[in-house]
Amino acid sequence: MHFFKYKKKELYAEDVKVKKLIELYGSPLYIYSHKTLLRHFKAYNNAFGRYPHIICFALKANSNTAILRIFAKNGGGADIVSGGELYTALKAGISPKKIVYAGVGKTDDEIRFALRSKILMFNVESEDELKKINHIAGEMKTKAPIALRINPDIDPETHPYISTGLKEHKFGIPIEDAIQYYKTASRLKNIKVMGIHKHIGSQITKISPFVDALKRILILIEELTYKGVEIKYLDIGGGLGISYKDEEPPVPKELAQHLLPLLKGKEMTLIMEPGRSITGNAGILVTKVLYLKQGYEKEFIIVDAGMNDLIRPSLYGAYHRILPITKKKRPDTFADVVGPICESGDFLAKEREIPEVKQGEYLAVMSAGAYAFSMSSNYNSRPRPAEVLVKGKEHFLIREREAYHDIQKKARIPAFLK
Ligand SMILES: *Cc1c(COP(=O)(O)O)cnc(C)c1O
Repeated sequence: MHFFKYKKKELYAEDVKVKKLIELYGSPLYIYSHKTLLRHFKAYNNAFGRYPHIICFALKANSNTAILRIFAKNGGGADIVSGGELYTALKAGISPKKIVYAGVGKTDDEIRFALRSKILMFNVESEDELKKINHIAGEMKTKAPIALRINPDIDPETHPYISTGLKEHKFGIPIEDAIQYYKTASRLKNIKVMGIHKHIGSQITKISPFVDALKRILILIEELTYKGVEIKYLDIGGGLGISYKDEEPPVPKELAQHLLPLLKGKEMTLIMEPGRSITGNAGILVTKVLYLKQGYEKEFIIVDAGMNDLIRPSLYGAYHRILPITKKKRPDTFADVVGPICESGDFLAKEREIPEVKQGEYLAVMSAGAYAFSMSSNYNSRPRPAEVLVKGKEHFLIREREAYHDIQKKARIPAFLK
């Protein structure tokens, strides 16, 4: 459910014509719908009702400060994976007491920064990391709150690149070794065990992997309780999918209906780390048709957004719906929608059935609110697009379009070359 709809053949973001935004802010342009963002955030918050819970939005899906502030103002927390994300989350006004920190490669500086900031907990992914955090907390004369990220060995049945909870993955601690790790953690002087964490993958479109993983984790929690390890926070990660094409993923309410009965009578605070399912369908990327080119075997629609702006098609072969911002009565053609980057892998769509377009017209790449701008780069020295937030009839620039001088800002020429 989102609020990008046609009215009289014109695509609107809420009550604003997309064409108008392009005229004001230029192309390519990321556009987000405030109403959609809020609706999706609240869908999670409401689904779990009175069971104590914190919705920790996964910053890696979208780290725009203004968007994060929407969640912060509605009681949201953050799931972070780096010092940069911690910095951004705090800037956005997210309470450190609602920040959880995952990732297999936390550096000493990042650990110090998180300890200084007094985050809710580190989601620890290895024994080395556990010992490192203990050591640094000792130096800082404090105790580090931690959960262990447990790998429940559940197949989320999603794309291999975004599946994380199987034995073969680099993430987490194998469930068989969990008790041993918790024993170690409990013995460390500067570690305070707070909870348990799991995250099995992304773009999951079924309920069963969530249920199966939770069941395994709950058995483990019982064992831990029996052994005297108290688990206050149960962090079940993110991963709920969205509809890019014809997927029919469950909504948070359905997920809650299956998970809450398992948690009945258990006094813990539930943490969820949704990313994609909150922002994915709340954003679009609008791009201009620069050229049409008849290749040997197919037609190319060359647009002004490339893999540096939206890498998901190139990286995962991901499907994004592509729609004209003004509907015309034209026959369909088959074409590759490609960007200007000098890579054959630079495409937004392959062999796509799409109504004919003309040079100078605009296309909207749908479902571009997650893992889109946050994965963008300056490859080919391309300034990154602007981001705009639409709220009803109003629109706000929430990130300026980069300029050439932004790309050069950090470059230095050594004296011997001057
Ligand atoms: C990526 C990630 C998430 C968010 O995943 P989505 O599929 O976007 O909901 C949550 N937790 C962790 C640890 C992650 O790495």
